[in-house]
Amino acid sequence: MRKHVIAGNWKMHKTEEEIKQFMDNLQLTHDQEKTEAVICAPALYVKDMAERAKGSSLHIGAQTMHFEESGAFTGEVSAPMLTDIGASHVIIGHSERRMYFGETDESVQQKTAQALAHNLTPIVCVGESLEQRETGETNAFVGSQVTRALEGLTHEQIAQVIIAYEPIWAIGTGKTASSADANEVCTHIRTVVSELSDEETANQVIIQYGGSVKPDNIKELLEQSDIDGALVGGASLEADSFQALVEASNA
Ligand code: 13P
Repeated sequence: MRKHVIAGNWKMHKTEEEIKQFMDNLQLTHDQEKTEAVICAPALYVKDMAERAKGSSLHIGAQTMHFEESGAFTGEVSAPMLTDIGASHVIIGHSERRMYFGETDESVQQKTAQALAHNLTPIVCVGESLEQRETGETNAFVGSQVTRALEGLTHEQIAQVIIAYEPIWAIGTGKTASSADANEVCTHIRTVVSELSDEETANQVIIQYGGSVKPDNIKELLEQSDIDGALVGGASLEADSFQALVEASNA
């Protein structure tokens, strides 16, 4: 049985005071055998949040990182730095990073390997544009993103990767892929992972759906055969709605 993983992606939101309020209001009581709850915060706040979350069931992650250990990369943050300050997860290859910050399949592959080498769980994002969906390229495109991201990893490493299927047209738009459509792509992703490794490994990989996930649509998404969780933007920003997502996934 795969766990559910509910991960909030806060993107470039919140101040210190707002984070304090979120953490004070959050009352997670879920069964950790069934659900893992993660907030991926702006890098600046990861340390403070990880300290506040110590002893609780909340994991704290980051939203990107560099693929080198250290070096002349002004403004960047490395995997060992993130581990050092208490991060457990890191989002890699979010479509906003691919679109605005030059993230490529190659850098996604390098970052995924580097995250694993430093005990960070990579949440690798893949997903098609509206145009690609309309021209029937979704499975081929998403499949190639997955193949490139997992290149060079051992089966044991692949089993630790979380893959987030986020159709670009569903992010922040209020448009959710129907749960059946989302599942169809997630099933394809699992088949691709199986071809890259083996069936046993593919059955361990957590595949999330992301794109306008809310407390009122998460249940239906999680009822699908290959959707094991969600990567959530807007609805993860308030403690009560993040909590509702975690609870719904824990029922
Ligand atoms: P929304 O949940 O706001 O659509 O954002 C999805 C997302 O990009 C999560 O990474």
